[in-house]
Amino acid sequence: MIDTLRLTAEQAIGLLERREVSAEELSEAYLAAIDERDAELHAYLRVVGGTGDGVPVALKDCITTRGIETTAGSKILQGYVPVYDSTVAARCGAAGLPLLGKTNMDEFAMGSSTENSAFGPSRNPWDPSRVPGGSSGGSAAAVAGGLAPWALGSDTGGSIKQPAALCGIVGLRPTYGTVSRYGIVAFASSLDQIGPVAKTVRDVALLYSIIAGRDPLDSTTAELPEPVALPEDESLAGVRLAVPRQVAGLDAIEPGVRAAFEKTLETARELGAEVGECDLPLSYRYGMPCYYLVAPAEASSNLARYDGVRYGPRVVGATYGEMVDRTRDAGFGPEPKRRIMLGTYALSAGYYDAFYGQAQRVRTLLIREHREALEGFDAIVTPTSPTVAFPIGDKAADPLAMYACDLLTIPSCLAGLPGLSIPCGLSEGLPVGLQLIGRQFGENGLFRIGHALEGGIGFDTVPERLR
Ligand code: GLN
Repeated sequence: MIDTLRLTAEQAIGLLERREVSAEELSEAYLAAIDERDAELHAYLRVVGGTGDGVPVALKDCITTRGIETTAGSKILQGYVPVYDSTVAARCGAAGLPLLGKTNMDEFAMGSSTENSAFGPSRNPWDPSRVPGGSSGGSAAAVAGGLAPWALGSDTGGSIKQPAALCGIVGLRPTYGTVSRYGIVAFASSLDQIGPVAKTVRDVALLYSIIAGRDPLDSTTAELPEPVALPEDESLAGVRLAVPRQVAGLDAIEPGVRAAFEKTLETARELGAEVGECDLPLSYRYGMPCYYLVAPAEASSNLARYDGVRYGPRVVGATYGEMVDRTRDAGFGPEPKRRIMLGTYALSAGYYDAFYGQAQRVRTLLIREHREALEGFDAIVTPTSPTVAFPIGDKAADPLAMYACDLLTIPSCLAGLPGLSIPCGLSEGLPVGLQLIGRQFGENGLFRIGHALEGGIGFDTVPERLR
């Protein structure tokens, strides 16, 4: 019997190598778990059950898959069947990973709870009355719920790290430019990154090694300066961690989250790390407003392509303009519409410099501030999310409350830096995530620190109610 709730991808690779199970049996076990539990969790939009000789993978539905409907959680892409594979899907295929299915997400990756999916929310395996986080909530719920050993998500302002935290698993938002976006449904091009979620840091590093590296089809990609190194160290001797001074004053952080975070700092010290302080005053003050200008501005431009001609469904009209208007009105949900309005306004003549231009200048300051904060330190540490998973519907009517979920994840995304979230404890019986921010291309360092901490923390990734 394969226990998909416990099996790590690395263990699964071992089973395959020793021929203790076949790749078919492995995929079958996950498909059976999907059959059993996905009616409740709704992690998947589409179950594919593809073939390959490796460990199966699930892909967020903004990742283009040849011959397989790809909707990005939006009605405007319903029925869109791509004629090509995204580079990350192709790389997973070339590595032999069978595709289990496409996972649910906030429409166009806009959200922090997966409630903005046009196809209904996903649910948190720890408590199905709560959100799994977002926008990669389907991928995180699938892994935490034992419906996939590992999965890919996308992260613009926190959409890998935050759902990983809320579902009690590991997630990596890679350095901007390390993973190809060729064939990814674009949200905000200067921020979007693809990255893995899994139950362990080593699994995340393994999947990252499959997808990362220069892609001639995406000119924003770079060659990795060094190969991905699977972490082995159990100790943090010589590692210097920095807690931003401002974290102490952030009232949005729940007491239970703060307690788990403080306890993790203790664990880090016991493992030999030195824990100091850094300063990120502009990041927590201006990060959110800056992001909510840059991201909607770029989204409004990226989403202009959905015109009823090139993709998905069309609502007819008497003129071309009327057809486009009606198609976009029927096809986009409230959140993309809100962002298109916001972004179009911020980019309009006369406002461009005051809003988008100013936000870009603030972004430069955040980049500098992070560079200075990391001087003398190996990583910046904060909680990943200010709260644990919240009840479905709790923030749905209040966009600003939803945006506040990303307070701690957004600044480093604007700075283009890699971030790793690992589970670091429970608050009210729900997982808390620890965020580690590294230097550009510093993934190996984050893996090393994350792996050692993971050992010291000893978090059980199987949701309590499923043990
Ligand atoms: N929650 C943020 C937003 O709604 C970030 C989403 C993301 O990273 N894709 O934009």
